[in-house]
Amino acid sequence: MNLMQQLIALNIAKVRDRIRNAEEKYHRKPNTVALMAVSKTRSADEVRQAIAAGITDIGENYLQEALDKQLHLTDIDMCWHFIGPIQSNKTRAIAEHFDWVHSVDRLKIALRLNDQRPSGMPPLNVCLQVNTSDENSKAGVSLEQLSSLAVQVDSLPHIQLRGLMSIPQASDQADEQQAAFAVLHQAFNDLQKTCNDLDTLSMGMSADMEAAIAEGSTVVRIGTDIFGPR
Ligand SMILES: *Cc1c(COP(=O)(O)O)cnc(C)c1O
Repeated sequence: MNLMQQLIALNIAKVRDRIRNAEEKYHRKPNTVALMAVSKTRSADEVRQAIAAGITDIGENYLQEALDKQLHLTDIDMCWHFIGPIQSNKTRAIAEHFDWVHSVDRLKIALRLNDQRPSGMPPLNVCLQVNTSDENSKAGVSLEQLSSLAVQVDSLPHIQLRGLMSIPQASDQADEQQAAFAVLHQAFNDLQKTCNDLDTLSMGMSADMEAAIAEGSTVVRIGTDIFGPR
């Protein structure tokens, strides 16, 4: 193993320890929080090393960068997650080249992904991105519009609605982090009454994964603490 490979493997082991400790501390069942490695700005080589260290799920934010990397990794069987903002003209390639999309926040995008998902492939797994911190109107459907969007997306044949995702406003206070994730957790519980088979709460990044696990996260999306600062 070269140095970079050792470092990535060590970082992944540390992140896995943190996940295990948080599961225990917050009375989650063991191994119920999955780990996605977020490899934006990182090379195909670094992705390959993360896979060698046991990672099976890779998250990418930028379509062209992801497609370039995928070309170098066709020999590996892995699960690709699109987690970045989606413009309409990118939906076809996303529908063709990803297993999951975590950042759907409007019907138009969901309809295009549904129409453009190739017929030979299983339904595209989708999480709706929710804006839980109202005023800073970044990406994400509002809490008010969530349930109507979810019902419509849930009816699309080539999409499997799996759950919700959020990127809360950054905070270094654990209680503030947890409060933001609690909002998504509550929305998830409410939605389970109208949509069947929701099983995914995509929340938690390097700086707030413990708070996310405390609030029911089922998959954390970790970039910096695996690959180093960007
Ligand atoms: C970059 C990114 C991450 C990873 O963030 P880190 O703080 O580097 O762990 C997770 N989710 C999304 C949507 C991202 O864009």
